[in-house]
Amino acid sequence: MTEDYQFSTRIVRDTVRVDPETGAANVPIYLSSTFHQKDFDHFGKYDYTRSGNPTRDALENAIADLEGGERGFAFASGMAAISTAFLLLSSGDHAIVPKNVYGGTFRILTQVLGRLGIEHTFVDTTDLSQIEQAIRPNTKVIYVETPSNPTLKVTDIHAVSELTKAYRCYTFVDNTFMTPIFQRPLELGADLVLHSATKFISGHSDVVAGLAVAGNHELADKLYFLQNALGAVLGVQDSWLLLRGMKTLDVRIRKSAESALKVAAFLSKQPEVRRVYYPGLPQHSGFSLQHIQASSAGAILSFELENEAAARTFVNHVSLPIFAVSLGAVESILSYPPKMSHAELSEAERIKAGIGSGLLRLSVGLEDAEDLIRDFTRGLAAIKEKKHETVTSVN
Ligand SMILES: *Cc1c(COP(=O)(O)O)cnc(C)c1O
Repeated sequence: MTEDYQFSTRIVRDTVRVDPETGAANVPIYLSSTFHQKDFDHFGKYDYTRSGNPTRDALENAIADLEGGERGFAFASGMAAISTAFLLLSSGDHAIVPKNVYGGTFRILTQVLGRLGIEHTFVDTTDLSQIEQAIRPNTKVIYVETPSNPTLKVTDIHAVSELTKAYRCYTFVDNTFMTPIFQRPLELGADLVLHSATKFISGHSDVVAGLAVAGNHELADKLYFLQNALGAVLGVQDSWLLLRGMKTLDVRIRKSAESALKVAAFLSKQPEVRRVYYPGLPQHSGFSLQHIQASSAGAILSFELENEAAARTFVNHVSLPIFAVSLGAVESILSYPPKMSHAELSEAERIKAGIGSGLLRLSVGLEDAEDLIRDFTRGLAAIKEKKHETVTSVN
């Protein structure tokens, strides 16, 4: 219906729904678990909020339109959305999942779904031949997360979708890092898109939420059944907060991505930085694919310092980013994957996944890029000073 508009216009059209009754510019927060039925025999659109709520509906319609899907679903967290999606599978079914998948997704697969008889194989999804080799007669899903966390590896969504079509299984894509502003997996052939809306879509580090968008009617019906049956729905007030965050998603993520490119380019020239992982830099292995399937490299980057001591010094000497888990907020967030998102991996597993002891991940916020660069210059200078101190004290 709104297809002719540019994305920035669509976002506003999707999130500003004038209330037909009062003219209120915002969707009311319908804090009601139940709805009065006027007709003894025929019930209205809404009966009970687990099954449907007008505020949550507005959010679900907005994300469905932005991802270009059939129907959207809001969940209590990204993990609630992902877990519910995996319960489309039954005992005896098999999923192919990236080796470097989000830690919570790894946990649900290995410690919960396995117990229920849902099997999985971890592969490097950037290598299509590894995916194809892992396909079995009972494979139901190929799961993609691109760019990946924290080394920003890029998987070809269209190529994976062609494979899943040939083998009659589904492609699920975790689109948290890109959002529909930069990457629309359904348009590339995927069947289901998942989000931790806790991140960019909310954008203010104030809501934990998940979203899913089904690309076709059949999958939408199945997912609706599961959303209602399992009941991990997003609360009404949080649905409203998410709609509020989405209104500025376009400007927020574009500004952050612009700054991320500047920060990545700066870091890649610093002698204290061993390596920068950002698909917006031409030397990144996923650079060309990223720019074919997405319109930006996004606002997340990682960089490798010499060792843990250097990472600690850097974190202790910068003042702009907060040091925390999570990403995708107005404030820049610096995190240390070996002790945060990837703490469950052994050291050997970590190194194999390319997560060295000096790796830091940065989610670039809305601070001025030059201010961030000045702040990081101080952090890097502190590393040099510390090293100098150590050398002179040894002498
Ligand atoms: C945070 C995150 C999740 C999990 O979402 P929650 O909202 O924390 O449950 C899933 N995938 C990715 C890529 C994430 O960053």
